[in-house]
Amino acid sequence: MKNGNFHVLIIGGGIAGPALALALKQAGIASSVFEAYPYGEGIGGGFNIAPNGTRILAQIGVLDDLVSKSTVARFSKFKDERGREMATLPYGDPARYGQPALTMSRATLFECLAQTMKQRGISAQYEKRLTSFEDTADGVVAYFADGSSARGDILVGADGVRSAVRNFLLPAGPNPEFTGMLGVCGFAPADAFPEIHTSDVEAITFTFGPDGFFGHGGGDTKTFLWWANMMAETPFTAEQISSIDHAAAREELLKRFGTYYAPIPSLIAKTPKILRQNTYDIQSLPFWHKGRVVLIGDAAHAVSPNSGQGASLALEDALFLANLLRTSERGYSETFAAFESARKGRVEKIVQEGRRRSKGKDVATPLQSRIRNFFIGIMIKLFGVKGQDEVFGYRVDWMVGPVSSKTEDKPNGARLSETGAVREISRKEIKMRAARPGYP
Ligand SMILES: Cc1cc2nc3c(=O)[nH]c(=O)nc-3n(C[C@H](O)[C@H](O)[C@H](O)COP(=O)(O)OP(=O)(O)OC[C@H]3O[C@@H](n4cnc5c(N)ncnc54)[C@H](O)[C@@H]3O)c2cc1C
Repeated sequence: MKNGNFHVLIIGGGIAGPALALALKQAGIASSVFEAYPYGEGIGGGFNIAPNGTRILAQIGVLDDLVSKSTVARFSKFKDERGREMATLPYGDPARYGQPALTMSRATLFECLAQTMKQRGISAQYEKRLTSFEDTADGVVAYFADGSSARGDILVGADGVRSAVRNFLLPAGPNPEFTGMLGVCGFAPADAFPEIHTSDVEAITFTFGPDGFFGHGGGDTKTFLWWANMMAETPFTAEQISSIDHAAAREELLKRFGTYYAPIPSLIAKTPKILRQNTYDIQSLPFWHKGRVVLIGDAAHAVSPNSGQGASLALEDALFLANLLRTSERGYSETFAAFESARKGRVEKIVQEGRRRSKGKDVATPLQSRIRNFFIGIMIKLFGVKGQDEVFGYRVDWMVGPVSSKTEDKPNGARLSETGAVREISRKEIKMRAARPGYP
């Protein structure tokens, strides 16, 4: 598949799209990325990338740059509104999972991916909004809102939760569903908080209280990032998202979280810009591909931010698909089928878990909140590390040459891909790695 003038059209320059283009470049497969927005516009908020995602970034050569601009998150801490600790877990322990977890702004990740594409000579075009495509016997043609078009051999829809490509493949839906959870977030300058200890910067702290959920931790170098979630019947309107009165939004948040422990109120008070986001997910699509077209990332399986996995799953998809395109001797249709069948079970389980976790974030009476926190503490102590192992211990490895053409189901539910490029690390192996500090 990689021979000749094979060319991949990638729609979407968020996370999955650029990661796929970089992985394909490593495989010697040409691609072009088309992004609807002007360069760097329309990107807000911050997030964490878990070790299963940072391992992909390492393999496409973006991780070192990103580490220098973000925060390594070593712990996840669970607290109540007074700051009493319910549980603490190592988070993304590199000795255990190969690479650390990172927290950063979305803009920083975008910049690292976009600049790396540029350095490697990958064509990325901005202000190219896909409006339709034509799948023909000898190729696929993408049409854009500015009247231009592009021709390729296959087209990958990496165009996010509101995917136009998905709308063409599945015009009757399913459509993204509002999860019932609103997100509000911001970045505060780190030099305004000299009292915060490094161990708190290098942790993601999840605070559950009667007035709702608040998360915080280090972000890009010299910033703290925080986010709060509220349950709601309806999403923010476009107007509420685009024209925010920041002083009024801070005031509103301080009414809710002003009595939570320090530094929560001052993180809010010292944040210049407040951002609002709706959260959607797609529990399951009947199929991810048709003809020469395939979906990856949020376009195929948008996941609630509660999972902390959307970006990492998008990165996994990208390397997985590139691996298959690189090694497969089969046609694109069978390659896409192998991709979907190997990936669907894992991602849909994480999507479901993300939706389930919203329930712990609602407002409650003080008594309900104490009871809820008691159970959260117990569950995290009992199952936290096991849960992390299942999600973070999944590896997509960039292999040298094709390995096997056999698909094999493993007894523990892990599935070896057509190329043998994917595996889940067993708990025994994770323990062995943990005993060997510095293991990549
Ligand atoms: C509030 C919030 C917090 C989150 N926090 C986390 C977190 O902490 N950790 C985590 O792992 N994930 C998190 N996520 C999820 C994560 O952001 C997504 O899963 C991830 O961005 C998916 O990557 P993607 O490349 O598939 O889609 P996107 O990043 O959405 O990229 C899609 C791109 O396609 C472009 N596009 C759309 N339509 C077209 C078109 N017609 N033509 C051309 N281009 C188009 C878009 O402009 C966009 O740039 C969060 C999401 C939200 C909403």
